[in-house]
Amino acid sequence: MTVKTRFAPSPTGYLHVGGARTALYSWLYAKSQGGEFVLRIEDTDLERSTQEAVDAILEGMTWLGLNWDEGPYFQTKHFDRYNEVVDKLLAEDKAYKCYASKELLDEVRAEQEANKEMPRYDADHPKIKAVNDAAKEGDPCVIRFRNPKEGSVIFDDQIRGRIEISNSQMDDLIIRRTDGSPTYNFCVVVDDWDMGITHVVRGEDHINNTPRQINIYEALGAPVPVFAHCAMILGDDGAKLSKRHGAVSVMQYRDEGYLPEALNNYLVRLGWSHGDQEIFSREEMIQFFSLNAISKSASAFNTDKLLWLNNHYIKTSEPEYVAKHLEWHFEQQGINKDNGPALVEIVTLVGERCNTLVELAAQSRYFFEDFAEFDADAAKKHLRGVAKEPLALALSKLEALSDWTTENLHAVIAQVCEELEIGMGKIGMPLRVAVTGGGQSPSVDAVMQLIGKERVIARINMALAFIAEREANAQ
Ligand code: GLU
Repeated sequence: MTVKTRFAPSPTGYLHVGGARTALYSWLYAKSQGGEFVLRIEDTDLERSTQEAVDAILEGMTWLGLNWDEGPYFQTKHFDRYNEVVDKLLAEDKAYKCYASKELLDEVRAEQEANKEMPRYDADHPKIKAVNDAAKEGDPCVIRFRNPKEGSVIFDDQIRGRIEISNSQMDDLIIRRTDGSPTYNFCVVVDDWDMGITHVVRGEDHINNTPRQINIYEALGAPVPVFAHCAMILGDDGAKLSKRHGAVSVMQYRDEGYLPEALNNYLVRLGWSHGDQEIFSREEMIQFFSLNAISKSASAFNTDKLLWLNNHYIKTSEPEYVAKHLEWHFEQQGINKDNGPALVEIVTLVGERCNTLVELAAQSRYFFEDFAEFDADAAKKHLRGVAKEPLALALSKLEALSDWTTENLHAVIAQVCEELEIGMGKIGMPLRVAVTGGGQSPSVDAVMQLIGKERVIARINMALAFIAEREANAQ
């Protein structure tokens, strides 16, 4: 049997991290078994489904690299098929027409509540039975599934273990509304059956639907898939993850400068483990993934860990790959990437210092653009009278330097220290502030190498002018 899983989002909003984790687990399970992964858009709720949400989901899945082998299928395109199956169940008396009005159902419910009975649809209730017996063909009606009355539904959830629900707790589910549209729980079963889904991985908010759906599979003579219901994701304060906790949409993580590898690695560990390993390449995830190693308790989101992972992937991924993602952030921040060194060099030099690509772009601006002012604090501390001589000496040596390599730049700094008998800090920091505008950067020789000779010379002159002006003002 080929394993086939699916991710079946309802397009009512963006792809959030909870959905993304479900999609990832479902995808990983299929891949780990050499199986296939289906993307199905559950858009039967016409009021709440939007094209923007469909696009956002596809964009999120694509960005995460969760490619689908089949689909995207759209439930709204399958109405004929659902109706055909409803008709089949009707013909086999596994479903029936119910003519009870909403008012009558409310009345029966109130009666049950007053009698301290569990409020539920009861086809044998005398008032409902009377209406159904008296109805004529063509009267408005819904179609209800004849749920078994006896026994119970038992299934082995791959995460939560054995679950048993008595049929006495389930009523006869509406499978087609009065307006002729099929209902959600029914469409899911027909699709999972038609698409040959063998394993359903979904959020635990659907766990109450599962026994109802199992009864429908059985009535249809369809194989019942294996189920795995994933626990919720909580914010770091223990409350259900929501916008209040910051980003919840996958694409917002892209906007905030995360690499998809970091988010995938973060999500896979959020509720699944393999020993105490934290970092997983995609191949390792596929190799080690198993449904029964998913935790049944809720997991708390931890942004610090995600940042740590992102830093790891910025540092260790191929620089060309990181550069491709960084380019987008340069555009977002309005930095012209053609006005400075190759982005690959930026990634290699500055990447390890940054937790996000947003930071990496922001911290690299001085390689591409001149600045009008030095950072006030850094300048106050390092662009002082004592820096004048070392900066001026460095300037003359740099002007004379023809081979602009990091090694030669390093040698120039060492010579300045030696000739003036000063420590490295006395020239290193003023130089750093002069050429970058601020007090923090990677090694200043490598930074100067990437900034380029012309800009470095101009900036040291600007720093010397700044010091001169400062001294003049102090007198
Ligand atoms: N469409 C459902 C949702 O977005 C998922 C249903 C399922 O996976 O069976 O929550």
